[in-house]
Amino acid sequence: MEGRLTKQKRFVITGGLGFIGSHFVEMCLQEGHSVVNIDKVTYASNEHLKFHDGNYTLVKCDICDLKTIPTCDFIVNFAAESHVDNSILESKNFINSNVYGVYNILEILKNTKIKSNLSAQKFSLPMFVQISTDEVFGDIENGFFKEDDRHKASNPYSATKSAAEQIVFAWSRTYDMPFLMTRSTNNYGPRQHEEKLIPRTITKILRGERVPIHGNGSYVRNWLHVKDNVDAIYRVIDVGVENEVYHVSSDEEFSVNEVILKICEELNVSFDNIADYSSDRAGCDLRYALNNDKVKKLGWTQKKTLDNSIKSIIEHYRKENTK
Ligand code: NAD
Repeated sequence: MEGRLTKQKRFVITGGLGFIGSHFVEMCLQEGHSVVNIDKVTYASNEHLKFHDGNYTLVKCDICDLKTIPTCDFIVNFAAESHVDNSILESKNFINSNVYGVYNILEILKNTKIKSNLSAQKFSLPMFVQISTDEVFGDIENGFFKEDDRHKASNPYSATKSAAEQIVFAWSRTYDMPFLMTRSTNNYGPRQHEEKLIPRTITKILRGERVPIHGNGSYVRNWLHVKDNVDAIYRVIDVGVENEVYHVSSDEEFSVNEVILKICEELNVSFDNIADYSSDRAGCDLRYALNNDKVKKLGWTQKKTLDNSIKSIIEHYRKENTK
């Protein structure tokens, strides 16, 4: 089967100044596609990141305020409030960006389609690609969630991501709008905001501070390098089956304590001296796990591991810390 991305395509990417979105923008530009990046430039964005490429345009805008969408072949929606702890403190921004924002984009597409049908104009709907999360399922003690399993969100962030998925499924079925969706596990790599576990641990240790750990640190996560994730997203867009969901996960499960210990060993500090167990979080899931057979059948494989990436990731945050 010929892929969708064999020729140059026009991408609209939302949240392309964020952690995962920025790596996806980079990959699309490297592959010769054009990119319009729509980003609200929140606190979580890499505000000063520049892509020096004639095929790249940045539009500073909230996806909730969009009135039109640039002509394109694909809209890949990374834009979201992404930090669970923030959603527990105040969830309105999560409802806006993660739910209303998705609704707004789909409504613009639906209305454009209806208008062009009425005026008998030729119009081909772009493929809408929703970037979702393993968190929509809640936790699982043993085994792995498959793509069609039932959602059981545990916190406000995951509830908004689950709601967004339902909107995508319903709009696709009711208005015949094509979509693709990926759900991934915990990403790590360069350009992630300091609020997330790996950058937070590295920067706190580099600054000589203690590292807050939720609960007793036994929560288990599956750890996926951001480059492996964007490879998988690209592959799904290229050859994935229309209106299907794909799980993206690695073969690496580590508890929070195990991840922190790896960083301690690399930075030559004692775990006991830096661990701060005084905080916990409401609704914290014990283990997330996704079955990734379906994406592997598209030819995707995991290339990076936490052990072989940790040195370069520490170097990235060391440089950021001295800026
Ligand atoms: P991030 O917080 O690093 O970046 C989000 C980006 O979206 C930022 O640049 C921000 O400015 C932008 N943004 C936020 N709200 C916006 C809005 N209303 N309009 C336009 N731009 C907006 O997030 P991330 O970690 O890169 O996650 C990207 C996507 O992947 C999210 O949808 C998230 O739910 C999903 N996801 C992330 C992970 C992970 O481990 N980071 C895992 C699974 C799924």
